[in-house]
Order: sequence, then structure tokens, then C-alpha cells
Amino acid sequence: MSRPIDRNAPGIDVHNLVKRYGDVLAVDGVSFSIMPGTTAALLGANGAGKTTTIAIILGLLVPSSGTVSVLGVDILANRYRVLPRMNFASPYVDLPRRLTVRENLDVYARLYGVPRRRERIEELSEELEVAEFLSRATGSLSAGQRTRVALAKALLNEPDVLLLDEPTASLDPDTGDRIRTYIEQYQAERSTTILLASHNMAEVERLCRHVMMMRSGRVVDAGSPDDLLTRYGREDLEQVFLDVVRTPDEAAA
Ligand code: ATP
Repeated sequence: MSRPIDRNAPGIDVHNLVKRYGDVLAVDGVSFSIMPGTTAALLGANGAGKTTTIAIILGLLVPSSGTVSVLGVDILANRYRVLPRMNFASPYVDLPRRLTVRENLDVYARLYGVPRRRERIEELSEELEVAEFLSRATGSLSAGQRTRVALAKALLNEPDVLLLDEPTASLDPDTGDRIRTYIEQYQAERSTTILLASHNMAEVERLCRHVMMMRSGRVVDAGSPDDLLTRYGREDLEQVFLDVVRTPDEAAA
């Protein structure tokens, strides 16, 4: 695979991002930078603006204003230069349900121009425990099985920047733990930059070096998990999360 466009640039750099839907400010001046090869989390209550931010970074939504660059490339101006180096997984985005898992992975592998498609699909199927249902219709899978297929799809092109929306949603604790270990190893081996949106605080503490807390479209606090625990005088990120989301916006201002 080709090397990233600029390995020294931040994996993701977002500046003053705004997305307005009529009267709703879904994203309200968000800025952050994720160093290459690190994992950061975007946390916040339902409706805080996480998915909208991720969709803008992927180039799926156009922001009302602000800039986004990925591996040093302006995503709004040059999306197609950097898209081949990115991918995303979300359990909320359905793959075509009538196609078998293998057909779906093959379609995406072709779209991404993956060399040695068959080998790559076999390899990921083994690693993500998808192999036993490769021949099943994707629509017949359980939620946890679909989550693993979505992750396999996201890793087909060996992305340098990976956006993960709830990557272990619906996984039982044992499978969830193994998938987290896999993501950790994958990232360590390839220096992938990962942005993770998750409601699983233990997962975030384990995987993420940097955490951004969103409320009402804004990043209201950020730091390493340890920094946040110290600042809020809490023992785990779940308690910090509750403190942040339950703070009225006026007080935050
Ligand atoms: P969740 O944790 O529930 O997935 P989220 O943090 O991902 O939430 P977003 O989906 O980004 O939140 O939504 C942010 C805000 O923007 C919400 O108030 C949502 O209702 C609003 N919103 C999102 N998309 C649209 C749209 N197409 N039209 C109008 N409002 C929208």
C-alpha cells in the first residue's frame, strides 16, 4: 500500500468546525488535533455532535464553516487524495443485507483497490473471527457478528486513519475484549491514527491516549484519561463523563 501523504502531519486536524441545521448547531466551533499513530476518543451524551464531526472528517458532510485536514491534506479541497488512506466502521451503517459476508468484503476490497483481495479477506476473517460465517447473507448475522464484519471492512485497505463509531457495540464481554486487544495490536504495528466515538468508558480508558469531551456541539474539556481523572477528582472516566454531561451549559460558559 502507498505510504501516507505526510506522516509527520497530525493524523486528523480540525479547526473551528461548525455544522448548522437550521436552528440546530450540531457542531459549534470544534477544534482538535490527533497526533499520528495515536488513539483519541470523542465522548459526549446522545446528540452532542460526535457522529456529525466524524461524518465531516470522512467528507460525507460539508461543514458550515471550519477546516479539516487528514494526514496534512485538506479534506474539503482534496478529499480523493486522502480517502484511500482512511476508513471507518460503524454498526449503524448497514452493508447490503442480501450479499454474503464474503461478497460484501470483496465488493469493498475492489472499491478500495486492495491488492491480493482474497488473501486479505481470509486474513481479516481469521483475525476478527468472521471466517465461520463468510458464506452467510450479511442480513442474517447477529448484531455482534455484524459489528465484526464492519470492522473487517474498515481494515481492508490497511488505513492510516481509522474512524471508529462504537467499535465494540453489541459484542459480549469476551469478544469485546479480544477485539480491543486486536485494535491495540493493529495500531501498535501500523501506527494508525484512530478517532473513537464510544459510550464504553472502560474501552476509552484502555485504548485512548487523549479524550475530548463534547457537550452541545462543543469540546468542553480534553486531556489524557489520567489528566481528566485528576482534574475532576474521580476514579474512573464514567464518573468524569457524568460530571461533564450534567454540567449546565451556562455554568460551562
Ligand atoms: P449519539 O451519541 O446519539 O450518536 P451524537 O453525539 O453522535 O449522538 P449527532 O448525531 O452528531 O450526535 O447530532 C448532533 C445534533 O445534530 C443533534 O441535536 C441532532 O439531532 C442534530 N442533527 C444531526 N443530523 C441532523 C440533520 N440531518 N438535521 C437536523 N438535525 C440534525
